Amino acid sequence: MVYTQCGETHFTIYKRLLTQQSVISKVTRKRLLMEKYDTIVVGAGTAGCIAAKTLTEKGLKVCLIEKKPKQEIGEKICGDALGDHHLKTLGLEKPTGGELEAKIDGIKIYSPDENTIFTIADKDFVGHILNRRLFGQWLLKKATDAGTHLEDNMNIRSPIIEKGAVVGITAKNMKTGNISELRSKVVVDATGFFGMIRKQLPAELGIDSEIDNEDVEACYREIRQLKQEAENTRFCEIYLNQQASPGGYVWIFPKGGARMNVGIGTCMRKTGYPNPKEQLYKTALKKPMFEDSLVLTGGAWFDPVRRPLDSMVANGVVIIGDAASLVNPIHGGGIGPSMLSGYYAGQQIVEALGKGEPTREALWGYNKRYIDTYGKKQGTLDIFKIFLLSCSDEDLNYGMNQKLMTEDDVLKAGMGDDFHLNITETAKRVFRGIRKVGFLNKLHTTVSMMKGLGVHYNTYPETPRGFEEWRDETVRLIEEARKKLVD
Ligand SMILES: Cc1cc2nc3c(=O)[nH]c(=O)nc-3n(C[C@H](O)[C@H](O)[C@H](O)COP(=O)(O)OP(=O)(O)OC[C@H]3O[C@@H](n4cnc5c(N)ncnc54)[C@H](O)[C@@H]3O)c2cc1C
Repeated sequence: MVYTQCGETHFTIYKRLLTQQSVISKVTRKRLLMEKYDTIVVGAGTAGCIAAKTLTEKGLKVCLIEKKPKQEIGEKICGDALGDHHLKTLGLEKPTGGELEAKIDGIKIYSPDENTIFTIADKDFVGHILNRRLFGQWLLKKATDAGTHLEDNMNIRSPIIEKGAVVGITAKNMKTGNISELRSKVVVDATGFFGMIRKQLPAELGIDSEIDNEDVEACYREIRQLKQEAENTRFCEIYLNQQASPGGYVWIFPKGGARMNVGIGTCMRKTGYPNPKEQLYKTALKKPMFEDSLVLTGGAWFDPVRRPLDSMVANGVVIIGDAASLVNPIHGGGIGPSMLSGYYAGQQIVEALGKGEPTREALWGYNKRYIDTYGKKQGTLDIFKIFLLSCSDEDLNYGMNQKLMTEDDVLKAGMGDDFHLNITETAKRVFRGIRKVGFLNKLHTTVSMMKGLGVHYNTYPETPRGFEEWRDETVRLIEEARKKLVD
Protein backbone atom coordinates (compact mmCIF):
# COMPACT_ATOMS: atom_id res chain seq x y z
CA MET A 1 0.00 0.00 0.00
CA VAL A 2 1.28 3.45 -0.90
CA TYR A 3 0.68 6.05 1.78
CA THR A 4 0.76 9.72 0.91
CA GLN A 5 3.77 11.40 2.35
CA CYS A 6 3.95 15.12 2.92
CA GLY A 7 4.83 16.81 -0.36
CA GLU A 8 4.69 13.61 -2.40
CA THR A 9 2.13 13.70 -5.20
CA HIS A 10 0.77 10.67 -7.04
CA PHE A 11 3.13 11.54 -9.89
CA THR A 12 6.25 11.50 -7.70
CA ILE A 13 5.12 8.24 -6.12
CA TYR A 14 4.74 6.77 -9.61
CA LYS A 15 8.21 7.95 -10.63
CA ARG A 16 9.68 6.46 -7.45
CA LEU A 17 8.04 3.11 -8.23
CA LEU A 18 9.34 3.12 -11.82
CA THR A 19 12.88 3.91 -10.68
CA GLN A 20 12.81 1.06 -8.18
CA GLN A 21 11.57 -1.28 -10.91
CA SER A 22 14.25 -0.31 -13.43
CA VAL A 23 17.05 -0.86 -10.90
CA ILE A 24 15.76 -4.36 -10.21
CA SER A 25 15.39 -5.12 -13.92
CA LYS A 26 19.11 -4.63 -14.55
CA VAL A 27 19.84 -7.33 -12.01
CA THR A 28 17.50 -10.05 -13.23
CA ARG A 29 16.28 -9.90 -16.80
CA LYS A 30 14.99 -13.29 -17.84
CA ARG A 31 12.41 -14.42 -20.31
CA LEU A 32 10.41 -17.16 -18.72
CA LEU A 33 6.93 -17.24 -20.09
CA MET A 34 6.36 -17.02 -23.80
CA GLU A 35 2.85 -18.44 -23.74
CA LYS A 36 0.38 -16.67 -26.02
CA TYR A 37 -3.03 -15.69 -24.71
CA ASP A 38 -6.05 -14.21 -26.44
CA THR A 39 -6.13 -11.53 -23.76
CA ILE A 40 -3.99 -10.52 -20.82
CA VAL A 41 -5.87 -8.56 -18.18
CA VAL A 42 -3.52 -6.65 -15.87
CA GLY A 43 -4.99 -5.94 -12.41
CA ALA A 44 -7.44 -8.18 -10.55
CA GLY A 45 -9.58 -5.39 -9.07
CA THR A 46 -13.30 -5.11 -9.72
CA ALA A 47 -12.71 -4.00 -13.34
CA GLY A 48 -10.16 -6.70 -14.17
CA CYS A 49 -12.09 -9.60 -12.60
CA ILE A 50 -15.28 -8.77 -14.51
CA ALA A 51 -13.35 -8.34 -17.77
CA ALA A 52 -11.60 -11.70 -17.26
CA LYS A 53 -14.88 -13.40 -16.35
CA THR A 54 -16.66 -11.99 -19.42
CA LEU A 55 -13.84 -13.02 -21.76
CA THR A 56 -13.38 -16.55 -20.45
CA GLU A 57 -17.12 -17.21 -20.38
CA LYS A 58 -17.02 -16.57 -24.14
CA GLY A 59 -14.29 -19.18 -24.57
CA LEU A 60 -11.18 -16.98 -24.83
CA LYS A 61 -7.83 -17.92 -23.29
CA VAL A 62 -7.25 -15.30 -20.60
CA CYS A 63 -4.38 -14.58 -18.21
CA LEU A 64 -5.12 -12.31 -15.25
CA ILE A 65 -1.96 -10.69 -13.89
CA GLU A 66 -1.94 -9.29 -10.35
CA LYS A 67 0.88 -7.97 -8.20
CA LYS A 68 -0.75 -8.94 -4.89
CA PRO A 69 -0.77 -12.48 -3.57
CA LYS A 70 -4.04 -14.25 -4.40
CA GLN A 71 -5.45 -14.07 -0.84
CA GLU A 72 -5.06 -10.26 -0.74
CA ILE A 73 -6.90 -9.61 -3.98
CA GLY A 74 -9.85 -7.27 -3.35
CA GLU A 75 -8.23 -5.34 -0.47
CA LYS A 76 -8.58 -1.61 -1.20
CA ILE A 77 -8.74 1.75 0.59
CA CYS A 78 -12.35 2.57 -0.20
CA GLY A 79 -15.69 3.83 1.15
CA ASP A 80 -16.93 0.27 0.38
CA ALA A 81 -20.39 1.45 -0.82
CA LEU A 82 -21.96 -0.08 -3.90
CA GLY A 83 -25.36 0.91 -5.34
CA ASP A 84 -27.69 -2.03 -5.91
CA HIS A 85 -28.48 -0.88 -9.45
CA HIS A 86 -24.91 -1.60 -10.61
CA LEU A 87 -25.32 -5.29 -9.73
CA LYS A 88 -28.68 -5.42 -11.52
CA THR A 89 -27.20 -3.90 -14.69
CA LEU A 90 -24.49 -6.56 -14.72
CA GLY A 91 -26.81 -9.44 -13.86
CA LEU A 92 -24.78 -10.18 -10.71
CA GLU A 93 -26.57 -11.59 -7.67
CA LYS A 94 -26.66 -9.48 -4.50
CA PRO A 95 -23.85 -10.18 -2.05
CA THR A 96 -25.15 -12.22 0.88
CA GLY A 97 -22.12 -13.86 2.52
CA GLY A 98 -19.17 -12.29 4.29
CA GLU A 99 -18.74 -9.86 1.38
CA LEU A 100 -21.83 -7.96 2.60
CA GLU A 101 -21.28 -5.94 5.78
CA ALA A 102 -24.34 -3.67 5.86
CA LYS A 103 -27.34 -2.62 3.80
CA ILE A 104 -27.93 1.03 3.04
CA ASP A 105 -31.20 2.91 2.43
CA GLY A 106 -29.65 6.06 0.94
CA ILE A 107 -27.38 9.00 1.70
CA LYS A 108 -27.57 12.09 3.88
CA ILE A 109 -25.71 15.17 2.69
CA TYR A 110 -24.85 17.77 5.35
CA SER A 111 -24.33 21.47 4.59
CA PRO A 112 -21.02 22.90 5.91
CA ASP A 113 -22.75 24.36 9.01
CA GLU A 114 -24.62 21.00 9.41
CA ASN A 115 -27.91 22.91 9.76
CA THR A 116 -29.36 21.50 6.54
CA ILE A 117 -29.45 17.82 5.68
CA PHE A 118 -30.53 16.48 2.29
CA THR A 119 -31.80 12.94 2.68
CA ILE A 120 -31.72 11.01 -0.58
CA ALA A 121 -33.45 7.67 -0.20
CA ASP A 122 -34.32 6.98 -3.82
CA LYS A 123 -34.12 3.36 -5.06
CA ASP A 124 -30.98 4.25 -7.03
CA PHE A 125 -29.20 5.11 -3.80
CA VAL A 126 -30.09 1.88 -2.02
CA GLY A 127 -27.01 -0.25 -1.72
CA HIS A 128 -24.52 -2.41 0.04
CA ILE A 129 -21.48 -1.80 2.22
CA LEU A 130 -18.95 -4.39 1.17
CA ASN A 131 -16.13 -6.24 2.78
CA ARG A 132 -13.80 -5.27 -0.06
CA ARG A 133 -11.42 -8.21 0.26
CA LEU A 134 -14.20 -10.79 0.34
CA PHE A 135 -16.10 -9.05 -2.46
CA GLY A 136 -12.88 -9.07 -4.50
CA GLN A 137 -12.37 -12.78 -3.77
CA TRP A 138 -15.99 -13.44 -4.78
CA LEU A 139 -15.42 -11.71 -8.15
CA LEU A 140 -12.05 -13.42 -8.62
CA LYS A 141 -13.64 -16.83 -8.08
CA LYS A 142 -16.18 -16.06 -10.76
CA ALA A 143 -13.35 -15.33 -13.20
CA THR A 144 -11.21 -18.36 -12.29
CA ASP A 145 -14.23 -20.71 -12.15
CA ALA A 146 -14.97 -19.63 -15.72
CA GLY A 147 -11.42 -20.63 -16.72
CA THR A 148 -9.26 -17.52 -16.26
CA HIS A 149 -5.62 -18.34 -15.51
CA LEU A 150 -4.39 -16.21 -12.57
CA GLU A 151 -0.75 -15.16 -12.23
CA ASP A 152 -0.52 -13.48 -8.82
CA ASN A 153 2.58 -11.83 -7.30
CA MET A 154 3.35 -10.48 -10.78
CA ASN A 155 4.17 -6.80 -11.07
CA ILE A 156 3.66 -5.39 -14.57
CA ARG A 157 6.67 -3.46 -15.84
CA SER A 158 5.81 -2.36 -19.37
CA PRO A 159 3.67 -3.04 -22.40
CA ILE A 160 5.39 -4.64 -25.40
CA ILE A 161 4.65 -2.50 -28.45
CA GLU A 162 5.41 -3.64 -31.98
CA LYS A 163 4.41 -1.93 -35.24
CA GLY A 164 2.03 0.47 -33.50
CA ALA A 165 0.17 -2.20 -31.54
CA VAL A 166 0.37 -3.57 -28.01
CA VAL A 167 1.25 -7.27 -28.29
CA GLY A 168 2.03 -8.24 -24.70
CA ILE A 169 3.62 -7.21 -21.41
CA THR A 170 6.70 -7.75 -19.30
CA ALA A 171 6.20 -8.48 -15.63
CA LYS A 172 8.34 -9.26 -12.61
CA ASN A 173 7.55 -12.16 -10.31
CA MET A 174 7.56 -10.62 -6.83
CA LYS A 175 8.65 -13.90 -5.21
CA THR A 176 11.44 -15.05 -7.53
CA GLY A 177 12.51 -11.72 -9.03
CA ASN A 178 12.28 -13.22 -12.52
CA ILE A 179 11.16 -11.08 -15.42
CA SER A 180 8.68 -12.67 -17.80
CA GLU A 181 7.39 -11.72 -21.18
CA LEU A 182 3.80 -12.63 -21.96
CA ARG A 183 2.20 -12.20 -25.36
CA SER A 184 -1.44 -11.79 -26.26
CA LYS A 185 -3.70 -10.45 -28.99
CA VAL A 186 -5.14 -7.84 -26.60
CA VAL A 187 -3.89 -6.35 -23.32
CA VAL A 188 -6.39 -4.84 -20.88
CA ASP A 189 -5.12 -2.19 -18.44
CA ALA A 190 -7.10 -2.67 -15.22
CA THR A 191 -4.31 -1.50 -12.89
CA GLY A 192 -6.41 1.18 -11.22
CA PHE A 193 -5.48 4.79 -10.58
CA PHE A 194 -1.83 4.57 -11.73
CA GLY A 195 -2.78 3.14 -15.15
CA MET A 196 0.51 1.29 -15.47
CA ILE A 197 0.00 0.42 -19.15
CA ARG A 198 -1.81 3.65 -20.07
CA LYS A 199 1.04 5.79 -18.73
CA GLN A 200 3.57 4.01 -20.93
CA LEU A 201 1.71 4.20 -24.24
CA PRO A 202 3.23 6.45 -26.91
CA ALA A 203 1.11 9.50 -27.83
CA GLU A 204 0.62 8.19 -31.41
CA LEU A 205 -1.68 5.48 -30.04
CA GLY A 206 -4.22 8.21 -29.24
CA ILE A 207 -4.90 7.53 -25.55
CA ASP A 208 -4.27 10.34 -23.04
CA SER A 209 -1.58 9.12 -20.68
CA GLU A 210 -1.79 11.76 -17.91
CA ILE A 211 -4.57 12.73 -15.52
CA ASP A 212 -4.39 16.30 -14.25
CA ASN A 213 -3.82 16.64 -10.49
CA GLU A 214 -6.84 18.96 -10.29
CA ASP A 215 -8.97 15.97 -11.32
CA VAL A 216 -7.72 13.79 -8.49
CA GLU A 217 -8.92 13.47 -4.90
CA ALA A 218 -6.24 12.61 -2.37
CA CYS A 219 -8.04 10.47 0.22
CA TYR A 220 -7.38 9.14 3.70
CA ARG A 221 -9.66 6.59 5.38
CA GLU A 222 -9.91 4.62 8.61
CA ILE A 223 -12.13 1.79 9.78
CA ARG A 224 -13.03 2.56 13.41
CA GLN A 225 -14.53 0.43 16.13
CA LEU A 226 -16.84 2.64 18.20
CA LYS A 227 -17.52 2.21 21.89
CA GLN A 228 -21.13 1.41 21.05
CA GLU A 229 -23.25 0.96 17.95
CA ALA A 230 -24.03 4.29 16.26
CA GLU A 231 -27.61 5.51 16.00
CA ASN A 232 -27.45 5.72 12.22
CA THR A 233 -26.69 2.41 10.63
CA ARG A 234 -28.79 2.70 7.44
CA PHE A 235 -27.49 5.88 5.76
CA CYS A 236 -24.15 6.88 4.28
CA GLU A 237 -23.32 10.36 5.55
CA ILE A 238 -21.53 12.96 3.46
CA TYR A 239 -20.30 16.25 4.95
CA LEU A 240 -19.57 19.14 2.59
CA ASN A 241 -17.03 21.57 3.95
CA GLN A 242 -14.57 23.53 1.84
CA GLN A 243 -12.42 24.31 4.89
CA ALA A 244 -12.07 20.71 6.02
CA SER A 245 -12.02 19.03 2.61
CA PRO A 246 -11.58 21.58 -0.20
CA GLY A 247 -13.17 20.24 -3.36
CA GLY A 248 -14.16 16.98 -1.70
CA TYR A 249 -16.03 15.78 1.35
CA VAL A 250 -15.87 13.85 4.58
CA TRP A 251 -17.75 10.57 4.69
CA ILE A 252 -19.00 8.39 7.55
CA PHE A 253 -20.39 5.08 6.32
CA PRO A 254 -21.74 2.38 8.67
CA LYS A 255 -19.91 -0.95 8.36
CA GLY A 256 -22.31 -3.00 10.48
CA GLY A 257 -22.28 -3.33 14.28
CA ALA A 258 -20.21 -0.62 15.91
CA ARG A 259 -17.76 -0.24 13.02
CA MET A 260 -17.56 2.87 10.85
CA ASN A 261 -15.73 3.69 7.64
CA VAL A 262 -14.67 7.32 8.03
CA GLY A 263 -12.65 9.18 5.44
CA ILE A 264 -11.93 12.36 3.59
CA GLY A 265 -11.09 13.38 0.03
CA THR A 266 -9.48 16.69 -0.95
CA CYS A 267 -8.90 18.00 -4.46
CA MET A 268 -5.20 18.06 -5.41
CA ARG A 269 -5.27 21.70 -6.52
CA LYS A 270 -2.17 23.22 -8.10
CA THR A 271 -2.35 26.00 -5.53
CA GLY A 272 -1.96 23.46 -2.71
CA TYR A 273 -4.19 21.21 -0.66
CA PRO A 274 -4.19 20.09 2.95
CA ASN A 275 -2.95 16.70 4.14
CA PRO A 276 -6.12 14.55 4.19
CA LYS A 277 -5.07 12.54 7.26
CA GLU A 278 -4.46 15.67 9.31
CA GLN A 279 -7.79 17.09 8.13
CA LEU A 280 -9.65 13.92 9.14
CA TYR A 281 -8.15 14.06 12.62
CA LYS A 282 -8.98 17.77 12.97
CA THR A 283 -12.59 17.43 11.81
CA ALA A 284 -14.65 14.23 11.54
CA LEU A 285 -12.71 12.30 14.18
CA LYS A 286 -13.47 15.07 16.69
CA LYS A 287 -17.16 14.09 16.59
CA PRO A 288 -18.35 12.60 19.91
CA MET A 289 -19.18 9.27 18.26
CA PHE A 290 -15.44 8.64 17.69
CA GLU A 291 -14.43 9.34 21.27
CA ASP A 292 -12.33 6.39 22.55
CA SER A 293 -12.86 4.52 19.28
CA LEU A 294 -10.22 2.10 18.01
CA VAL A 295 -8.47 2.32 14.64
CA LEU A 296 -8.87 -1.09 13.00
CA THR A 297 -7.11 -0.08 9.79
CA GLY A 298 -6.22 3.09 7.90
CA GLY A 299 -4.55 4.28 4.73
CA ALA A 300 -4.45 6.66 1.83
CA TRP A 301 -5.20 6.37 -1.85
CA PHE A 302 -6.30 8.42 -4.88
CA ASP A 303 -9.61 8.74 -6.73
CA PRO A 304 -9.70 10.15 -10.28
CA VAL A 305 -12.83 12.32 -10.40
CA ARG A 306 -13.39 13.60 -13.93
CA ARG A 307 -14.90 12.65 -17.27
CA PRO A 308 -13.77 9.29 -18.71
CA LEU A 309 -10.69 9.21 -20.93
CA ASP A 310 -11.96 10.50 -24.28
CA SER A 311 -10.72 7.29 -25.92
CA MET A 312 -9.93 4.09 -24.03
CA VAL A 313 -8.76 1.90 -26.93
CA ALA A 314 -5.85 1.61 -29.33
CA ASN A 315 -4.43 -1.21 -31.45
CA GLY A 316 -4.28 -4.26 -29.17
CA VAL A 317 -5.09 -2.41 -25.94
CA VAL A 318 -8.15 -1.46 -23.87
CA ILE A 319 -8.19 0.64 -20.67
CA ILE A 320 -10.86 0.00 -18.00
CA GLY A 321 -11.87 1.06 -14.48
CA ASP A 322 -9.87 3.69 -12.58
CA ALA A 323 -7.08 3.38 -15.14
CA ALA A 324 -9.51 5.04 -17.57
CA SER A 325 -10.85 7.51 -14.94
CA LEU A 326 -14.25 5.86 -14.73
CA VAL A 327 -15.37 7.27 -11.39
CA ASN A 328 -18.44 9.40 -10.64
CA PRO A 329 -16.96 12.93 -10.31
CA ILE A 330 -19.42 13.94 -7.59
CA HIS A 331 -19.43 11.10 -5.08
CA GLY A 332 -16.27 9.32 -6.20
CA GLY A 333 -18.02 5.96 -6.60
CA GLY A 334 -16.14 3.81 -9.09
CA ILE A 335 -16.83 0.16 -8.20
CA GLY A 336 -19.99 0.02 -10.36
CA PRO A 337 -18.55 1.83 -13.41
CA SER A 338 -15.32 -0.21 -13.20
CA MET A 339 -17.29 -3.46 -13.38
CA LEU A 340 -19.45 -2.08 -16.19
CA SER A 341 -16.36 -1.13 -18.17
CA GLY A 342 -14.87 -4.61 -17.62
CA TYR A 343 -18.06 -6.17 -18.93
CA TYR A 344 -18.31 -3.92 -22.01
CA ALA A 345 -14.60 -4.25 -22.75
CA GLY A 346 -14.83 -8.06 -22.53
CA GLN A 347 -17.77 -8.17 -24.93
CA GLN A 348 -16.07 -5.84 -27.41
CA ILE A 349 -12.81 -7.80 -27.39
CA VAL A 350 -14.70 -11.03 -28.10
CA GLU A 351 -16.47 -9.35 -31.02
CA ALA A 352 -13.26 -7.80 -32.37
CA LEU A 353 -11.29 -11.07 -32.23
CA GLY A 354 -14.23 -12.91 -33.80
CA LYS A 355 -13.96 -10.62 -36.82
CA GLY A 356 -10.16 -10.48 -37.16
CA GLU A 357 -7.46 -8.19 -35.80
CA PRO A 358 -8.03 -6.19 -32.56
CA THR A 359 -7.37 -2.83 -34.18
CA ARG A 360 -8.41 0.53 -32.75
CA GLU A 361 -11.39 0.50 -35.15
CA ALA A 362 -12.42 -3.01 -34.11
CA LEU A 363 -12.25 -2.13 -30.39
CA TRP A 364 -13.92 1.28 -30.76
CA GLY A 365 -17.39 -0.06 -29.89
CA TYR A 366 -16.29 -0.24 -26.23
CA ASN A 367 -15.70 3.53 -26.19
CA LYS A 368 -19.06 4.19 -27.77
CA ARG A 369 -20.99 1.84 -25.50
CA TYR A 370 -19.45 3.11 -22.29
CA ILE A 371 -19.83 6.78 -23.26
CA ASP A 372 -23.47 6.27 -24.32
CA THR A 373 -24.38 4.59 -21.02
CA TYR A 374 -22.34 5.88 -18.06
CA GLY A 375 -19.69 8.10 -19.67
CA LYS A 376 -22.04 10.88 -20.72
CA LYS A 377 -23.31 11.15 -17.13
CA GLN A 378 -19.74 11.27 -15.82
CA GLY A 379 -18.87 13.98 -18.34
CA THR A 380 -21.75 16.25 -17.40
CA LEU A 381 -21.09 15.67 -13.68
CA ASP A 382 -17.55 16.90 -14.25
CA ILE A 383 -19.14 20.33 -14.77
CA PHE A 384 -21.28 19.95 -11.63
CA LYS A 385 -18.07 19.13 -9.75
CA ILE A 386 -16.44 22.31 -11.10
CA PHE A 387 -19.50 24.23 -9.83
CA LEU A 388 -19.23 22.67 -6.35
CA LEU A 389 -15.50 23.41 -6.27
CA SER A 390 -16.23 27.06 -6.93
CA CYS A 391 -18.76 27.40 -4.07
CA SER A 392 -17.77 28.80 -0.70
CA ASP A 393 -19.11 27.26 2.53
CA GLU A 394 -21.36 30.32 2.84
CA ASP A 395 -22.77 29.68 -0.67
CA LEU A 396 -23.42 26.05 0.16
CA ASN A 397 -25.05 26.81 3.52
CA TYR A 398 -27.34 29.41 2.01
CA GLY A 399 -27.98 27.46 -1.21
CA MET A 400 -28.99 24.30 0.64
CA ASN A 401 -30.85 26.06 3.45
CA GLN A 402 -32.93 28.25 1.14
CA LYS A 403 -33.40 25.38 -1.33
CA LEU A 404 -31.70 27.29 -4.15
CA MET A 405 -30.21 23.87 -4.78
CA THR A 406 -32.59 21.04 -3.89
CA GLU A 407 -32.48 17.34 -3.02
CA ASP A 408 -34.13 16.75 -6.37
CA ASP A 409 -31.28 18.53 -8.21
CA VAL A 410 -28.72 16.40 -6.41
CA LEU A 411 -30.72 13.23 -7.05
CA LYS A 412 -31.13 13.97 -10.77
CA ALA A 413 -27.52 15.03 -11.13
CA GLY A 414 -26.40 11.88 -9.33
CA MET A 415 -28.46 9.67 -11.64
CA GLY A 416 -27.26 11.50 -14.74
CA ASP A 417 -30.72 12.82 -15.59
CA ASP A 418 -31.01 16.19 -17.30
CA PHE A 419 -32.30 18.69 -14.82
CA HIS A 420 -33.97 21.86 -15.96
CA LEU A 421 -34.93 24.88 -13.94
CA ASN A 422 -38.31 25.94 -15.41
CA ILE A 423 -39.56 29.54 -15.28
CA THR A 424 -41.82 29.13 -12.23
CA GLU A 425 -39.19 27.17 -10.38
CA THR A 426 -36.53 29.73 -11.30
CA ALA A 427 -38.74 32.63 -10.17
CA LYS A 428 -39.32 30.91 -6.82
CA ARG A 429 -35.61 30.33 -6.36
CA VAL A 430 -34.75 33.92 -7.35
CA PHE A 431 -37.19 35.11 -4.70
CA ARG A 432 -35.68 32.83 -2.07
CA GLY A 433 -32.17 33.70 -3.20
CA ILE A 434 -32.40 37.46 -3.41
CA ARG A 435 -29.26 37.73 -1.26
CA LYS A 436 -27.42 35.23 -3.38
CA VAL A 437 -28.20 36.10 -6.98
CA GLY A 438 -24.60 35.30 -7.93
CA PHE A 439 -24.97 31.75 -6.63
CA LEU A 440 -28.21 31.30 -8.55
CA ASN A 441 -26.67 32.62 -11.76
CA LYS A 442 -23.81 30.22 -11.32
CA LEU A 443 -26.24 27.33 -10.81
CA HIS A 444 -28.06 28.34 -14.00
CA THR A 445 -24.84 28.52 -15.98
CA THR A 446 -23.87 25.12 -14.58
CA VAL A 447 -27.16 23.50 -15.58
CA SER A 448 -27.03 24.93 -19.08
CA MET A 449 -23.38 23.94 -19.57
CA MET A 450 -24.13 20.42 -18.34
CA LYS A 451 -26.92 20.23 -20.87
CA GLY A 452 -24.62 21.51 -23.65
CA LEU A 453 -21.97 18.93 -22.79
CA GLY A 454 -24.64 16.21 -22.67
CA VAL A 455 -25.75 17.13 -26.21
CA HIS A 456 -22.11 17.00 -27.31
CA TYR A 457 -21.65 13.55 -25.71
CA ASN A 458 -24.64 12.35 -27.77
CA THR A 459 -22.48 12.91 -30.86
CA TYR A 460 -19.62 10.66 -29.71
CA PRO A 461 -18.30 9.17 -32.99
CA GLU A 462 -19.31 5.65 -34.02
CA THR A 463 -15.78 5.04 -35.36
CA PRO A 464 -12.40 6.73 -34.83
CA ARG A 465 -13.21 9.06 -37.77
CA GLY A 466 -14.05 12.49 -36.44
CA PHE A 467 -12.71 11.66 -32.97
CA GLU A 468 -10.02 14.37 -32.90
CA GLU A 469 -12.61 17.10 -33.55
CA TRP A 470 -14.92 15.59 -30.94
CA ARG A 471 -12.14 15.53 -28.36
CA ASP A 472 -11.11 19.13 -29.12
CA GLU A 473 -14.68 20.26 -28.57
CA THR A 474 -14.93 18.29 -25.30
CA VAL A 475 -11.78 19.94 -23.96
CA ARG A 476 -13.09 23.35 -25.07
CA LEU A 477 -16.41 22.85 -23.27
CA ILE A 478 -14.75 21.75 -20.02
CA GLU A 479 -12.29 24.65 -20.18
CA GLU A 480 -15.17 27.05 -20.80
CA ALA A 481 -16.94 25.69 -17.71
CA ARG A 482 -13.81 26.23 -15.62
CA LYS A 483 -13.47 29.81 -16.90
CA LYS A 484 -17.14 30.70 -16.33
CA LEU A 485 -17.53 29.00 -12.96
CA VAL A 486 -14.14 29.33 -11.31
CA ASP A 487 -12.20 32.28 -12.76
C1 LIG B 1 -10.69 6.49 -0.47
C2 LIG B 1 -11.57 5.99 -1.58
C3 LIG B 1 -12.90 5.73 -1.30
C4 LIG B 1 -13.72 5.20 -2.31
N1 LIG B 1 -15.00 4.88 -2.00
C5 LIG B 1 -15.80 4.29 -2.92
C6 LIG B 1 -17.11 3.85 -2.60
O1 LIG B 1 -17.57 3.95 -1.46
N2 LIG B 1 -17.84 3.29 -3.58
C7 LIG B 1 -17.37 3.14 -4.85
O2 LIG B 1 -18.11 2.64 -5.71
N3 LIG B 1 -16.12 3.51 -5.17
C8 LIG B 1 -15.32 4.07 -4.26
N4 LIG B 1 -14.03 4.42 -4.58
C9 LIG B 1 -13.53 4.17 -5.94
C10 LIG B 1 -13.26 2.66 -6.14
O3 LIG B 1 -12.46 2.18 -5.09
C11 LIG B 1 -12.57 2.44 -7.48
O4 LIG B 1 -13.21 3.20 -8.48
C12 LIG B 1 -12.58 0.97 -7.90
O5 LIG B 1 -12.02 0.16 -6.91
C13 LIG B 1 -11.81 0.82 -9.21
O6 LIG B 1 -11.58 -0.53 -9.49
P1 LIG B 1 -10.39 -0.95 -10.50
O7 LIG B 1 -10.53 -2.42 -10.66
O8 LIG B 1 -10.42 -0.10 -11.69
O9 LIG B 1 -9.06 -0.57 -9.74
P2 LIG B 1 -8.43 -1.15 -8.39
O10 LIG B 1 -9.50 -1.57 -7.46
O11 LIG B 1 -7.47 -0.13 -7.91
O12 LIG B 1 -7.66 -2.46 -8.84
C14 LIG B 1 -6.44 -2.39 -9.54
C15 LIG B 1 -5.74 -3.72 -9.37
O13 LIG B 1 -4.56 -3.69 -10.17
C16 LIG B 1 -3.48 -4.18 -9.41
N5 LIG B 1 -2.25 -3.57 -9.90
C17 LIG B 1 -1.87 -2.27 -9.79
N6 LIG B 1 -0.66 -2.08 -10.31
C18 LIG B 1 -0.26 -3.29 -10.77
C19 LIG B 1 0.93 -3.75 -11.38
N7 LIG B 1 1.95 -2.92 -11.62
N8 LIG B 1 1.02 -5.05 -11.75
C20 LIG B 1 0.00 -5.90 -11.48
N9 LIG B 1 -1.14 -5.53 -10.87
C21 LIG B 1 -1.26 -4.24 -10.52
C22 LIG B 1 -3.80 -3.73 -7.98
O14 LIG B 1 -3.08 -4.48 -7.03
C23 LIG B 1 -5.30 -3.96 -7.93
O15 LIG B 1 -5.62 -5.26 -7.54
C24 LIG B 1 -13.20 4.97 -3.61
C25 LIG B 1 -11.85 5.26 -3.89
C26 LIG B 1 -11.04 5.77 -2.88
C27 LIG B 1 -9.60 6.04 -3.18
